[in-house]
Amino acid sequence: MARAFNFNAGPAAIPLEVLQQAQEQFVDYKGAGMSIMEMSHRSDLYEQVNNEAQSLVRELFGVPDNYQVLMLQGGASTQFAMLPMNFITPGRAGAYVDTGAWAGKAIKEAKLIGETVVAASTEADSYMRIPDLSEIVIPDNAAYLHITSNETIGGTQYAQYPSTGDVPLIADMSSDVFCRPVDVSKFGVIYAGAQKNLGPSGVTLVIMRDDLIAAGSKTIPTMFRYETHAKNKSLYNTPPSFSVYMVSLVLQWIKNKGGVAALEQFNRDKTGIIYDAIDQSGGFYVGCAQPQSRSIMNITFRIHDTELEKLFIKESEEKGFVGLKGHRDVGGLRASTYNAVPLESCQALVQFMGDFQKRHG
Ligand code: PMP
Repeated sequence: MARAFNFNAGPAAIPLEVLQQAQEQFVDYKGAGMSIMEMSHRSDLYEQVNNEAQSLVRELFGVPDNYQVLMLQGGASTQFAMLPMNFITPGRAGAYVDTGAWAGKAIKEAKLIGETVVAASTEADSYMRIPDLSEIVIPDNAAYLHITSNETIGGTQYAQYPSTGDVPLIADMSSDVFCRPVDVSKFGVIYAGAQKNLGPSGVTLVIMRDDLIAAGSKTIPTMFRYETHAKNKSLYNTPPSFSVYMVSLVLQWIKNKGGVAALEQFNRDKTGIIYDAIDQSGGFYVGCAQPQSRSIMNITFRIHDTELEKLFIKESEEKGFVGLKGHRDVGGLRASTYNAVPLESCQALVQFMGDFQKRHG
């Protein structure tokens, strides 16, 4: 079987070893005579999977003891609503750094709940950069500061995170969680949909500090309270058990690869060759994000002639590449190079880009 050169933005590539392991265990999980999907979420075997996923997150990401690791449903989009529901109270505002499409969606939800302040925005630069930390103005009544650590559509990523003092820093890391080490203690909350760097869709990782869990609103429905999930080890109701199982396998794969620091080097090597191909093309390919804000997960670029972009996508698909079309809102080209995308796929893309330029440049 030929595997596609998969540059999808999400759902995205999953390590082949993980898919094969899941295949082996698919029908009969550890001799239980049934699939993990057919098992009670209250069974010992499933509880082990749930515990394993949570403890690997702790181990690999260095999560301090005063944080909980939650596995929730509803995608990162539900977190856009749950966070303000829990933390914006009368007189307190949700503060947001507006870096593009995903930050914008988080802001839109917060506005439905309560006072929302934009603490910095790079809209004037078409969101092609992350603001300098000095541009971020946190209001005195901020309940939190929310950032989007990696803008999946724009292809920008924070090189450094802001220091927010006593104001909890909340980060949507949906498209770059586990791509590099992070000092979790700088954050009040980190959250991420799993379907880019952690496995399949269906589960959302939330890492939250204990005092915030305790401080969340008590007057919202049970399922929307973090406390509900923290008290029940994310087993308050039926969890997305197969997705959690897949995440546990991906986390084990990360561990076998040498952990998150090793992955960062791997990701830098992969994206380095693609950014070099763009920068050394003599202007045939043009990177979208400003160099200091370039993402090591989503590489956005253009060809001066949009007709050529269409042809690029068509020819790349014929050669086995998938997912190189930019997001429908911004156009252009995008290569998503998440943790599970092999170096070989990136080398093949560089080769294809060079060939394409020779033929059409
Ligand atoms: N935030 C970011 C940065 C994303 O890339 C995405 C999905 N592409 C989301 C949030 C929304 O995630 P979900 O589809 O899991 O709700």
